[in-house]
Amino acid sequence: MIRTQNLKKLYQTKEIETTALNGININIKKGEFVAVMGPSGCGKSTLLNLLGLLDEPSSGDYFFNDIDTSGFNERKRAALRKGNIGFVFQNFNLIDELTVFENIELPLMYMGLSNDVRKKKVEDSLQRMSMMPRRNHFPQQLSGGQQQRVAIARAVVADADLILADEPTGNLDSDHGDEVMNLLTELNQQGTTIVMVTHSPHDAGFSNRRIHLFDGAVIEKPAEKDFYV
Ligand code: ADP
Ligand code: MG
Repeated sequence: MIRTQNLKKLYQTKEIETTALNGININIKKGEFVAVMGPSGCGKSTLLNLLGLLDEPSSGDYFFNDIDTSGFNERKRAALRKGNIGFVFQNFNLIDELTVFENIELPLMYMGLSNDVRKKKVEDSLQRMSMMPRRNHFPQQLSGGQQQRVAIARAVVADADLILADEPTGNLDSDHGDEVMNLLTELNQQGTTIVMVTHSPHDAGFSNRRIHLFDGAVIEKPAEKDFYV
């Protein structure tokens, strides 16, 4: 599903040039649950953004479902994301002015679906996340754990077969964190491929495989001192 070849990302600011990713070669098969680990600043979020087609690499190739995305502009990237890739972020990224229902409905708004079909999909997704009773609440009226469940519902509502999660439990206490991890595990068992950035060894324990990054490169085994950063 995911294959990268010598993927590099440089950030150029007035002051300095940062090499965020320095030649990443990874393969992730459909159905895997992979944890991307490494210390702060090693390039985890940058990699996830590239895999999610939210950004373009400085060089190298990225094949998503065997489609070579090199040279794709934002319009083409968006078209490939649609219905294929769902995102879950540390800070939930819900829209405060929209209800739970409306937040989950958002990814469906541009897919040309009828009202009835949208309603059905949102309700299915609410049910899977046990959030039906909160459908008319606004994000600020929910706990962090509930907000993240809404974010996961939004990520899966358009039948994405890949979920990219960036520190999904980073703002949650351990009970709510485990609840989110169990939901991701369930989705994975139902066939959704999951790539999750985390620096928590506990959360990584839910995955089937770990990819360790250090200074923008994949390393085999992290030094003990770097593992828990
Ligand atoms: P991680 O998620 O592992 O903490 P990031 O992928 O966010 O790391 O960042 C990797 C490196 O790239 C860091 O040195 C960071 O400062 C730099 N970086 C990330 N985003 C930008 C940006 N938009 N502009 C400039 N530098 C950036
Ligand atoms: Mg990050």
